[in-house]
Amino acid sequence: MKRFGTTVLLVFLCFFATLRSAAQEAKTLPLPDERYKTDILVVVAHPDDEGAATPYLARALDEHKRIAVVFGTRGSSGANEAGAEQAAALGAIREIEARNALTTLGITNVWFLSGKDTASQNVLQSLANWDHGASLEQLVRFVRLTRPEVILAFLPGTFIGEDHGDHQASGALATEAFDLAGDPASFSEQLAGPTKRLEPLLENLRPWQPKKIYYFADADREDIFSGKGPEYSVKEISKSSKQPYWRMALDSFRAHQTQAKSFLDKIAQMDEAQIEKMATSDGGWTDTLHFVLGKSLVGGSVTGDVFDGITPSAILFARPDVSPEPARPELSVELGGPYSFYAEFRRAHGLGNLPHPEPPEIALQAPGTLVIPLWVRNRTAKTQEITLSAVLPAGWTTQNGTGKFTVAAKQVAATRIEVNLPVPPENGGKKPEPQEISVHAESNGKSIGEIKLRVELRKRALPQ
Ligand SMILES: [Zn+2]
Repeated sequence: MKRFGTTVLLVFLCFFATLRSAAQEAKTLPLPDERYKTDILVVVAHPDDEGAATPYLARALDEHKRIAVVFGTRGSSGANEAGAEQAAALGAIREIEARNALTTLGITNVWFLSGKDTASQNVLQSLANWDHGASLEQLVRFVRLTRPEVILAFLPGTFIGEDHGDHQASGALATEAFDLAGDPASFSEQLAGPTKRLEPLLENLRPWQPKKIYYFADADREDIFSGKGPEYSVKEISKSSKQPYWRMALDSFRAHQTQAKSFLDKIAQMDEAQIEKMATSDGGWTDTLHFVLGKSLVGGSVTGDVFDGITPSAILFARPDVSPEPARPELSVELGGPYSFYAEFRRAHGLGNLPHPEPPEIALQAPGTLVIPLWVRNRTAKTQEITLSAVLPAGWTTQNGTGKFTVAAKQVAATRIEVNLPVPPENGGKKPEPQEISVHAESNGKSIGEIKLRVELRKRALPQ
């Protein structure tokens, strides 16, 4: 009986204790995982592209910045300098090489989109080959997961330079993700809370608005980029490694055996002085790294530090400052393809200050073919006849696409002019000069448009 009484008392005490603790202690709702919070999210196309920023990343790590990297593809195309593997197997190797390169610096939060390598200068072909929508959905997820203060990416634009379409695509996607990740109405399934304990579909992420986006250029046009963003010396000495930043970048690059084994083997034979001479002389590392400010939602000076104006707290979602559509005549012809895409892109993403070449430019392999994509816009109520002609440098000839065409009432039609490019002239090893070509469009004896394009002929260049 005594035992029974004690048990009853214990049960009562436990019951009241439970009631009291239920009243006092609230259950903590789960928070975002702090291990994935970053200060800088780098978005590039291929394994080894991170090298465009590694001297700066080494510096940012010295300043205790948290960094994550997203690659668009696994780099499954191209030659393998280290072994026999090709295609998807090569991509599997290059994923590890990229992870190892970044781990050397201390960066381990690294992800890959499911894009495929695209051998072209045309950003639209790369976006098509990357399943644009699916890649954007993935990248928006990574922005929401990593909550970056700053995004660093390739400059979305087309220039004479390396000008890889995949590089441009990674910059275009980074810009789109910058503008969408903070929008609760975009990819909302990523934001919804779980409907049950083992939620299989909804992700419970929060919207996130990055504060700034900076670009690095894939172009030869330093003239139009200077003064458009901060510059960082790659020769300064790291506080943590006591080595110059270019040297840390080189150590990181050693992982890329499949892309650069012959170069890395050459370096392995050099002493420190020879490496420094090679790396810092002409054609080696330049002595500064330039960024171009895409946009800042927190002010700060254009050429100031990347973190100028950034404070720790989150900012509200900001819709891009869309500029109005340009006024067009009733009947017009304009450059299409990547050129009109970028004009629309800059307008839609509030990138009115982003440098771009005027007239537009491209470097192409010659002999070969130049394709000039055109939009013909007829807003009149009648079918219209137009005449297209091209003014070309000596030795260049029209293959097709000039002559008379009709475009139906209220229609916008795509067409193109194809031009045969001659063998580039021998110029004694000097830098080739781009040549200007123009396309004239007439209707009823009146000009309805003149398009200019600067074209540089090279012995080697990516396909257009
Ligand atoms: Zn690349």
